[in-house]
Amino acid sequence: MRISSLFSGGLISNYNCSAACRHCLYRSSPRRDASYIDPEFARSLLHRARSLGCRGMHIGGGEPFLRFRDLLDTVGVFRDAGMRLDYLETNASWFTDKASAIEKLSRLAAAGCDTVMVSICPFHIEFIPLYKPEGVIEACKSAGMNFFIWQEQYYRELSSLDHGRTHTREELEAAFGPDYLLRAAGRFGLTMNGRALESFKPFFRHSSAEEICAANPGACTEAGETSHFHMDLYGNYIPPGCVGFTIDHEDLGSELDPERYPLFLMMLSEGISALYEQARRDSGFIPDPEGYISKCDLCQEIRTWMSKMTFSGELGPAEFYSPAH
Ligand code: SF4
Ligand code: SF4
Repeated sequence: MRISSLFSGGLISNYNCSAACRHCLYRSSPRRDASYIDPEFARSLLHRARSLGCRGMHIGGGEPFLRFRDLLDTVGVFRDAGMRLDYLETNASWFTDKASAIEKLSRLAAAGCDTVMVSICPFHIEFIPLYKPEGVIEACKSAGMNFFIWQEQYYRELSSLDHGRTHTREELEAAFGPDYLLRAAGRFGLTMNGRALESFKPFFRHSSAEEICAANPGACTEAGETSHFHMDLYGNYIPPGCVGFTIDHEDLGSELDPERYPLFLMMLSEGISALYEQARRDSGFIPDPEGYISKCDLCQEIRTWMSKMTFSGELGPAEFYSPAH
């Protein structure tokens, strides 16, 4: 099996973040490693993606603005590599005042960034007060930077709250009704993986591992999707919504080595039943009697178990499998 063509993706500059949102696919947080992508390394990732047909990527994190000088350099590499920078994601936590925000945005524009995606949603507002994304939006207007809000539907709703401070889950539920965050997750079209699984699992119907396997026979086709992939600062290729494997970007375009990627290839060819059987047989995996909400839930738990039991170079980053993050 080979990943032979890529369409549109994202470059993960860092996993460190000023927030630790409940829905975060990558389990980013202030506790994650502060490493940032090396611009020269970013260039090689962009070249690899381009060689497989990708013409546009965005920059995301973590929070990319946490190391602004490195961010500027990374933006500059896109132009050199002939890769369109579709947009730059931010949670706006870096905003302090309009003048300094305009200055940063102007420098980013000069480096080749023309669009910023500003995150506003019920999960971000637990960490970022609304005045910060609003400040970035106003600065974008002044600096001539294009922007869009992710997601606009929540901005209208959350605008009724105090813009000067963060809001807890309890406050959000008091304002918008019980289970507000759960309903928000449904409206978001959330990918239930990473931290989102832990956050929302209690609210969904659970099935036994055997029932999950029976309901999901055959290959996991999602793991082979390439439409909204990511590449991270460590050089890992990440299929859309499928986190926790470390597929080296240098192996893209070639036949994937079964000795290097046994679990990923097993998922692609045989699916969750085969992974479950192997985990029970070889690693002593014992399924949770409470059950699972999806095949990704079971898959992630098996991989977390395996990451503790054996060294597997195809599972990572290590911090992804640590509950402390
Ligand atoms: S969703 Fe974005 S802002 Fe929130 S923790 Fe993840 S990377 Fe950080
Ligand atoms: S079941 Fe596993 S391999 Fe398939 S998409 Fe979910 S997390 Fe990825």
